[in-house]
Amino acid sequence: MERISSMEKDCIFCKIVNGETNTRFLYKNDTLVVFKDINPEAPVHLLIVPEKHIRSINDLQEEDKNIVSEMIMTAREMANREGIAKSGYKIGFNVERGGGQVIFHLHLHLVGGWRR
Ligand code: AMP
Ligand code: ZN
Repeated sequence: MERISSMEKDCIFCKIVNGETNTRFLYKNDTLVVFKDINPEAPVHLLIVPEKHIRSINDLQEEDKNIVSEMIMTAREMANREGIAKSGYKIGFNVERGGGQVIFHLHLHLVGGWRR
């Protein structure tokens, strides 16, 4: 039950990735889930969230390299699926409070879909 043991008490994204909320997943695999940001900043605003609770980019371990590359490759695939690959998009990590992070469970923002 690795997934449960890595779950952080009171972490909303742990609850979401563990299926404890009614959040709809646009994509899911063994490593991560993708869902819509509840407060979108763009026509397309998705969050790519690993199941493992990692506080931020600062807390990544050597063993997490695969998680990060999977997150980026998934963002790329989701941009394709959402039809914004060609028009363009941004992907980004907010790191700690000074970097705008408010949810302390690693997540990658995928934003795009503005008319250009
Ligand atoms: P950050 O500032 O990088 O920590 O971003 C956290 C993001 O999570 C914000 O854009 C929020 O709108 C989003 N968010 C917070 N709670 C939820 C939720 N329950 N479902 C979907 N997105 C959420
Ligand atoms: Zn968490």
